[in-house]
Amino acid sequence: TNVLLKVENLTKYFPIRAGMLARKVGDVKAVNGISFEVYEGETLGIVGESGCGKSTTGRVIMRLHEPTGGKVTFDGVELTALSGEEMRKARRDIQMVFQDPYASLNPRHTIEKILEEPLIVHGIGTPEERRRKVIEYLEVVGLSAYHAKRYPHQFSGGQRQRIGIARALMTNPKLIIADEPVSALDVSIQAQVLNLMQKLQEDLKLTYIFIAHDLGVVRHISDRVGVMYLGSMVELANSEDLYAEPLHPYSQALLSAVPIPDPNYEREQVILTGDIPSPANPPTGCTFHTRCPMAMDVCKQQIPQFREVKAGHSVACHLYNDR
Ligand code: SF4
Ligand code: MG
Repeated sequence: TNVLLKVENLTKYFPIRAGMLARKVGDVKAVNGISFEVYEGETLGIVGESGCGKSTTGRVIMRLHEPTGGKVTFDGVELTALSGEEMRKARRDIQMVFQDPYASLNPRHTIEKILEEPLIVHGIGTPEERRRKVIEYLEVVGLSAYHAKRYPHQFSGGQRQRIGIARALMTNPKLIIADEPVSALDVSIQAQVLNLMQKLQEDLKLTYIFIAHDLGVVRHISDRVGVMYLGSMVELANSEDLYAEPLHPYSQALLSAVPIPDPNYEREQVILTGDIPSPANPPTGCTFHTRCPMAMDVCKQQIPQFREVKAGHSVACHLYNDR
């Protein structure tokens, strides 16, 4: 398996400013030193509660936010070393799909214009070729030429997300970063969009980073899943391993919240107490210790290292120090 994307010790701090002189009083440590790889052709799910840094991670990879530190390498090119102009060109190969397709589609533009725009930005094709590609990709996502002259408000939520996906595909990217692409949709529509994304992945040989806030959504689409908490990756494993035997107490809690369809089987619920701490002032040691049902004394003092404790399964937790 080829590594398509490599993220090394990535950090993103947002300064907190106060007072008339906008003096910096601290940092929100939105992404606090995470490392992972994404293999060509796979789907890596990234899961965590809101504020865990998962969306910021996606945006920093794209350099929609500049990283505070760390390195991102995509297809052999160090993105974090590119100039702004070079990065704009590199975005042809990495595209995003957003949670709220309505907010990300210009309401005054026709669908044709919205889909043509990335081609114009990257200087792809003649006007005639671009128009043909727009129709082609409307069909690829299950819409048709008939929709090209319409405006975003004339579509349902599911159709709008199809348009958002078509727009992301226009430049023939290799990697799609999908940030909660189905969270705003009805459950019945979610499955349709997920199925479409899986089909597109096979047909177009795409690699996905699929960001979600619960483990249920990413289960079937992900080859591997990473769990984030307060700006850190706390566990990363093959999907089967993670769902069969989550190691980190936080992953265990997230998984116990996913409903099981079988009424004869009941999973023990792990209830987390306490609020999510502020990423401006994270707890010492393991940042999860304030909510962890397994916390030990060492957890308050020492930051657990994120490391592989069995083949392909990494976790940051002192419970596994002897593995
Ligand atoms: Fe819980 Fe300690 Fe593991 Fe953190 S390191 S998850 S506090 S047991
Ligand atoms: Mg988010």
